[in-house]
Amino acid sequence: MIFQCKNCGGNVIYSPEKKGMYCPYCDSMGSEQRKDTQGDIHICPNCGGEVPVEEYTSAVRCPYCDNYIILNERVEGENTPDLVIPFQYSRDMVKKLMREKFAKSIFAPTDFLSEARLNTMEGNYVPFWLYDYQVNCQYRGEGRKVRVWTNGETEYTETSVYDIYRDMDIGFEKIPADASVRMPDEVMDLMEPYRYDQLQPFRPEFLSGFQGEKYNMPAEQIEGRAKGKMEEDANQLLRSTITGYGSVINQSQSIRVGEQKVSYGLLPVWVYSYQYKKQDYPFYINGQTAKIVGKVPVSTAKVWVYGATLWAVLTAMLTMLYAILVLW
Ligand SMILES: [Zn+2]
Ligand SMILES: [Zn+2]
Repeated sequence: MIFQCKNCGGNVIYSPEKKGMYCPYCDSMGSEQRKDTQGDIHICPNCGGEVPVEEYTSAVRCPYCDNYIILNERVEGENTPDLVIPFQYSRDMVKKLMREKFAKSIFAPTDFLSEARLNTMEGNYVPFWLYDYQVNCQYRGEGRKVRVWTNGETEYTETSVYDIYRDMDIGFEKIPADASVRMPDEVMDLMEPYRYDQLQPFRPEFLSGFQGEKYNMPAEQIEGRAKGKMEEDANQLLRSTITGYGSVINQSQSIRVGEQKVSYGLLPVWVYSYQYKKQDYPFYINGQTAKIVGKVPVSTAKVWVYGATLWAVLTAMLTMLYAILVLW
């Protein structure tokens, strides 16, 4: 499907600034008309050009006419997302932000913040499984407190032994695991946290103006990642209630999952695929919170110029290069 403007026939997209459907061609709001398409999904319904549709593509920009096409069969039926966090940051907003954050980065190549390069950024809806769990945690252990005192020549030791028993019900909501092979898991973990109170029921309109993917693997396949996070948190919560003892011997512990639910959600990420000297420096910007995760490229020409006078700074910068940068 595509969303076409009733007034001018242009492609209507979802605008994060205006929080609604917007036609950039005639500057009107709410003028969209959904046009469903049948037939070959590789053909642009607007201009007939061949569109780069991959195995999991659910929304894509036509490289010839710039219309954003949403592939019906990949957002409908069993592929319908339950929830979506719409983009809160537009391309222009992210461009401005990148320039502010990296304005003082003297080692970045000159075109890193150029208009042409920054315009290649694409907003992507990344498929996620969101897991809810009701769990019951039980714990048994033995705690000891030792008190030592002296009276005259004699030293007394008093050891008190306590039975520790905990029985806790904990509810976990929306533990995320990304279901996209293309998105590196460690990057997506750093993109967190999303604010899940802004999740909305899915509507295809939100995809207009962005790229999208349907889930690459079923919820059961990647559930281990969410369960791992849940168990870690449950453990921590449990342990945080056991304090005040000199020593603790653990006897038994169980985490039992009761009710559980999984929802299919789409979360917004801007991707800036910057290349420098045949090296990739992908940048990822959380489309809801604008948290930036990426590597900073270094231009050797610039390093040479500044190297003589700013050696200390240079060393620090170079060390940083090999780490993943997170800007908030
Ligand atoms: Zn229009
Ligand atoms: Zn086209």
